Amino acid sequence: MTPSAHQTLTTLPRAERRALRIAVLAPPWIPVPPPAYGGIEAVVALLCEELVMRGHEVTLFAAPGSHSSARVCSPLEDAHSEEIGSSLYESDHVGATYDAIDRAGREGRPFDLVHDHSGFTAVAMASRLSVPVVHTLHAPFDDETRPFYARHGHKARLVGISAFQLEHAPPGVTVVGSVPNPIRVVDWPFQVEKDDYLLWMGRMDPTKGAHRAIAAARAAGVRLVLAGPVQPGQEAYFREEIEPHLDGQSVVFLGEVGGMHRKELFARAKAFLMPIRWPEPFGMVMVEALACGTPVIAFPEAAAAEIVIDGENGFHVADESAMAEAVGCIDTVDPARCRESVASRYDAKIVTEGYEAVYDRTIRTAVSGIPRFAQRGQPVSRGDAASQARRRSPLVSTLQPMA
Ligand code: UDP
Repeated sequence: MTPSAHQTLTTLPRAERRALRIAVLAPPWIPVPPPAYGGIEAVVALLCEELVMRGHEVTLFAAPGSHSSARVCSPLEDAHSEEIGSSLYESDHVGATYDAIDRAGREGRPFDLVHDHSGFTAVAMASRLSVPVVHTLHAPFDDETRPFYARHGHKARLVGISAFQLEHAPPGVTVVGSVPNPIRVVDWPFQVEKDDYLLWMGRMDPTKGAHRAIAAARAAGVRLVLAGPVQPGQEAYFREEIEPHLDGQSVVFLGEVGGMHRKELFARAKAFLMPIRWPEPFGMVMVEALACGTPVIAFPEAAAAEIVIDGENGFHVADESAMAEAVGCIDTVDPARCRESVASRYDAKIVTEGYEAVYDRTIRTAVSGIPRFAQRGQPVSRGDAASQARRRSPLVSTLQPMA
């Protein structure tokens, strides 16, 4: 059977999917999988494992110390987690990866596509590759990133991770799909009987709201456990807004946690607190808590309003005092429903099928769909009027064909 233009890979029988040679590009700061903190690295780890299981030939370009069933290449000697965001290391990592991708092409082993999770440099330089680049948007569209994507977004196939994020794409920026972040639900312990504490976990950035979690837990009269790294630039916030409240009893700070300890913290908590004040593009901590059967009480900012279903797997609350009130009703939420709400939407298999559909469309439209430049700097055909019209379309969901 010849697949019709209206079929996506998801609808194709497994036997008809072509195995692809995929270069996955992770950020250079933290190994894959992450030993502790590292949302993007956790996503990349799972996706690589699933793609390999489905028969794709995957090469993962990632920080030293990474391991995967994919072939792993680490272009840099060190991980530089203390200099997260440094343009020196990011451009070094991306430049060396792109050189390796060019080399593979010259040696007759070309990649079919690059899937980038590494950040901005890879997008800005994507048009220098002769291979199409799929870029997962791990950051929100905000005043800082909008001009960047307006200038460089057309060089890659942009994939969003939540509906809210995509609604805020700047005019003229085309996003080819929406694929949420994955979790392998069976890897997370499910627990119905909970201990008497609330959990907040994340990087110590004011937008993530550890200080608001403290206020809410105090008002509720329930013990709060905080966990997460204090990253460069977050020291003053931690010192001034968090440290004074730590008493080893009602408010406890564990630092960065990993392994089974992290999973048990999620599983045993009475509720997970998510008092964010920023356009969170996804938020892995919420799906991790839910996978363990732990309800999430969230400020319904951005993706939190999608992941948390008010009254079903947690509550949407307006502020700290409403959060404290919701703690009192937490027993009305069914832990099994929490886990199911994640398994049915974000399980790694569902997510990988979403990406396979994006890859398929990317490869089928690589020549005509996106303006890019051949290796010698010659413009490649910009395609017909129909493909140009598609490029202007603000958002194409993964379920719509792009034949
Ligand atoms: N995390 C961890 N140990 C910590 C704090 C966080 O392993 O001490 C993990 C957390 O479980 C999640 C990731 O780091 O998998 C954070 O990802 P998220 O999407 O929630 O936040 P962001 O990427 O915005 O920092």
